[in-house]
Amino acid sequence: MIIDHNISPPLVRWKTFDAIPGLIAAFSTRLDGVSPAPYESLNLGLATDDNPVRLAENRQIFLGAAGIDPTRLVWAKQEHTTTVLTPDTPGAQGSCDALLTQGNRWALAATFADCLPLLLVEPESQTLCMVHAGWRGTAAGIARYAVEAMQDKYQITPEKILAVIGPHILPCCFEVGTNVAEQFPDDCQPGRDAAHWQVDLAGANTRLLKNAGVLPEHINAQALCTSCESHYFFSHRRDGFPSGRHMAVLAWHNTELDTQL
Ligand SMILES: [Zn+2]
Repeated sequence: MIIDHNISPPLVRWKTFDAIPGLIAAFSTRLDGVSPAPYESLNLGLATDDNPVRLAENRQIFLGAAGIDPTRLVWAKQEHTTTVLTPDTPGAQGSCDALLTQGNRWALAATFADCLPLLLVEPESQTLCMVHAGWRGTAAGIARYAVEAMQDKYQITPEKILAVIGPHILPCCFEVGTNVAEQFPDDCQPGRDAAHWQVDLAGANTRLLKNAGVLPEHINAQALCTSCESHYFFSHRRDGFPSGRHMAVLAWHNTELDTQL
């Protein structure tokens, strides 16, 4: 992943995805928005108590930079489930933590502050899946459900899926107690004492993807830590409540709609 400073606001992007014609994949930083502290400044969290006018302006700023018309945006009601939803209408969807679509009608969005963004693309059939994977969703195997949904709904071969993982809280800062660590037996390391552990969410999601048939060379799990990189990112764990949220978007360019920007 790279932080593209050639655009305002700067966007997190992936070279793998930039190389695919027509694909739009981006994750926001906290820079160049209009919200004051504690949402300083590009807060995109609709469920936060930030001023709705500023939220709307931030959204316009981010989607403008990403090149997506806001009328085709769909977003999940994220509740740490393993539900994968295929939207039929724009805007807010029901409870789910993964959105699945084919073609360039909808632009998939999800919001994050420490949880892991997982973006899945199958270029040939123009299939996209946006996954919100916190530790609960990861422990419940949401990445596997997402790959299975791509197979079931659109007959996608897992070997053709390309995956990237966005900025999230890395093991350096994701310290948990034994009850959470127990759910990640292969992806946690000892913390500061016997009661604390550090969990590797990218490792756990990579394992889920591989087990579901995604090729290791198709998984880009190299990500920045939202808690360490305070200049660029909000972190719920670092900043507490209230704090801002990032947005990830995933879409195929839609000439008819996106040119209206
Ligand atoms: Zn960190």
